[in-house]
Amino acid sequence: MTYISNDIVNEIRSRTDIIEVVSRYVNLTKKGKNYIGVCPFHDDHSPSMSVSPEKQIFTCFSCGTSGNVFNFVANFEHISFIQAVMLLGEKLGYNLSNSNALIKKDDYFEIYNLANKFYQNSLNTSLGKNAIDYLKQRNIDKETIKKFGIGLSVQKLSLTDYLKNKKYDINKLMDIGLTNDNGNDIFINRIMFPIYDLSGNTIAFSGRIYNTKDTSKYVNTKETEKFKKGKILYNYHIAKEHLKKNDTVIIVEGQMDVIRASTIGINNVVATMGTAITKEHKAIIKNMTKRVILCFDGDAAGEKATTSAIAMLEDTDLDIKIVRLPNNMDPDEYILKEGKSGFCSQLDAAYNLIDYKMELLKKNKDFTDIKDISSFVSSAIKELVNEKDSIIIELNLKKIATSFGIDYNTILERYNEYKKDKKEVKKKLDVKKSYNRYSQAERNLIYYMLKDVTVLKMVERKVGYFPTKSIRELSNEIIYYFHKYGIINIADFISYISNKEELYDPLMDIIAMNIKDDFQIKEIEDYILVINEYHKEMKVRNLNQKLKEEKDPLKQAEISLEIMKIRGVKDDDTRN
Ligand SMILES: [Zn+2]
Repeated sequence: MTYISNDIVNEIRSRTDIIEVVSRYVNLTKKGKNYIGVCPFHDDHSPSMSVSPEKQIFTCFSCGTSGNVFNFVANFEHISFIQAVMLLGEKLGYNLSNSNALIKKDDYFEIYNLANKFYQNSLNTSLGKNAIDYLKQRNIDKETIKKFGIGLSVQKLSLTDYLKNKKYDINKLMDIGLTNDNGNDIFINRIMFPIYDLSGNTIAFSGRIYNTKDTSKYVNTKETEKFKKGKILYNYHIAKEHLKKNDTVIIVEGQMDVIRASTIGINNVVATMGTAITKEHKAIIKNMTKRVILCFDGDAAGEKATTSAIAMLEDTDLDIKIVRLPNNMDPDEYILKEGKSGFCSQLDAAYNLIDYKMELLKKNKDFTDIKDISSFVSSAIKELVNEKDSIIIELNLKKIATSFGIDYNTILERYNEYKKDKKEVKKKLDVKKSYNRYSQAERNLIYYMLKDVTVLKMVERKVGYFPTKSIRELSNEIIYYFHKYGIINIADFISYISNKEELYDPLMDIIAMNIKDDFQIKEIEDYILVINEYHKEMKVRNLNQKLKEEKDPLKQAEISLEIMKIRGVKDDDTRN
């Protein structure tokens, strides 16, 4: 591990101009005080990245990647933060290391690329005959094999030996999931499907058994620094190329579903690789398209996955449609059985969101039973309360009325009742609103603490406690940094916490919020008030909880007194 003191890091940073460095990689245009350019860290079509010469930081308002000049170079060159410091330092004439090897680019992609080619070659040797036959049997032709880079791992051809001969470090091979602890290949006798990141680099494999019985049909590379299932979608880089304007992305579970769809000429398909849709997936999908079709496996697990995907995607303006395949089939099996026309008619007949929810509610209900009818009608109306489109609401309410021979006014009355209930619930959610106000205030404060020592000192003096852990720690670090170095600026503070993920990530979120740069002292006072009030509220809430659980009347009285004290105390100490 290399260590470079903070003073040197800051010195190099202050002698380096972020505009000049970023311009080497990306075309920048001046816009007001800042420069803007196309972000190299996501699939950007309009300039979403802003670089500030004043603050010496960059921010992408689309994907959220932010940081100082070192972070930019590290991200771009796929090197570590410290390597980026060394790279830029050496350009300025600093002699920071005796060994250039440290500056060598991360060879993860290089190794995986070689491994990918190695497996593809193995498939084409005489040892691959059975595997090719197996693939043929499953209607995977040569063209598809090539398109998806399908390969083969065999016992007789050791990938580990091959890479060791190329002088790659065995520890690295273990680290990135190609070699096990005994120094042998992880994948043996499996058909290999390479997994690519969003830019099309090979980052992992999925290996499938083909002529033996094994308890695990698929083995995937373990999660590594670059392979995180929750952050990639299988086939993204190909699907994206096939998307025309207003096109739909079809989301499936498995990579075989993607590959199968491609054999019938459907290429706008991505797979979650069996994980639930994450926040990161959501951001990727939103960037790709406005329309999605969820086409998960037809079994119960697929239904569950559909429900959770809907919950994740529902609050976006994505147009969501749902396909549920019959007889527990997955898209791969369905296409094999019903062909292109069958699959396309499933896509054409996809449910829209509200219809799908209605269908779900109908499941396992016996509509000759009055009780079941009543329970369905209630839950269907409740679901419609969440719908925004008034036409959809009216049409569905009418449909319910006619289907079950209920007077429309009765249905409408019930709808209005539920709507009123929902408003009541919303009132209770005001607690949440006060959280949002608080959360905005704490993030603004952190940002201004890094801009202005006055704010830093005010926070140090007046904020009793930040209830949010990451913010509390950020604030402590900023204050500590200021007392240690006697000065504070955002770009150097970023360097200082760059190896502390638990602080770095929240700070990047704050930077990407695009908080306005100028502020009034009055605003700062308000933020501090909001935070101290929120902390009080939290304390009272906790005590109330304790009170509920406490049986001893004496102790109950004590707690009540404490609550009264907190409520009664004027918050003079938070005002000037
Ligand atoms: Zn970006």
